[in-house]
Amino acid sequence: MSGIDIQTNTGLLDLFREQGALLEGHFLLSSGLHSPRYLQCARVLMDPAVATALGAVLADRLRPLLGEVTPTAVVAPAVGGVLVAHEVARALGCRGLFTERQDGRMTLRRGFALAEAEPLIVVEDVITTGGSTREVIEAVRARGARVLAVGSLVDRSGGAADVGVTRRSLLELEVPTYSPEACPLCADGSKPEKPGSRTSR
Ligand SMILES: [Zn+2]
Repeated sequence: MSGIDIQTNTGLLDLFREQGALLEGHFLLSSGLHSPRYLQCARVLMDPAVATALGAVLADRLRPLLGEVTPTAVVAPAVGGVLVAHEVARALGCRGLFTERQDGRMTLRRGFALAEAEPLIVVEDVITTGGSTREVIEAVRARGARVLAVGSLVDRSGGAADVGVTRRSLLELEVPTYSPEACPLCADGSKPEKPGSRTSR
């Protein structure tokens, strides 16, 4: 990531491309839809130095939302958010926790505990509709915690996802999807490929 300015949308896009976290072409998604872009945040987080740097920048963007309050934990949904919570927590000097589904319900396990009225931040790797973020917010509020702010590495919603809490993201990214019948790339004659089929290590 030498020479890349991860403070800017352009620099972040370069970083995601360089890490193979953002592929561009014509892809068949697991949903069956087609897209000109494929996002795999795990590939940008696989380099520990990059993950730490991204966590620090996201923490910087969240700090102005916190007022005088110092968060004592950062919570994310597993699996995608685990490293994001860990790295934002490193930057803020607090605990990094994650929620998991148990019988379909998002919950804190593994002995993770929250104090009554504990101030915390909820983070994600990617926000699309905000659904899993809202589930995490509900899970920690059910334990009595206060959610100060929400952060994500990527916002795929064009800023539209409403999680009921003020939020920030590092990278705004459009990932259009099309049904095979309506796919303009197919109409141009190209064939979709499965993401990962040309990605090595
Ligand atoms: Zn297509």
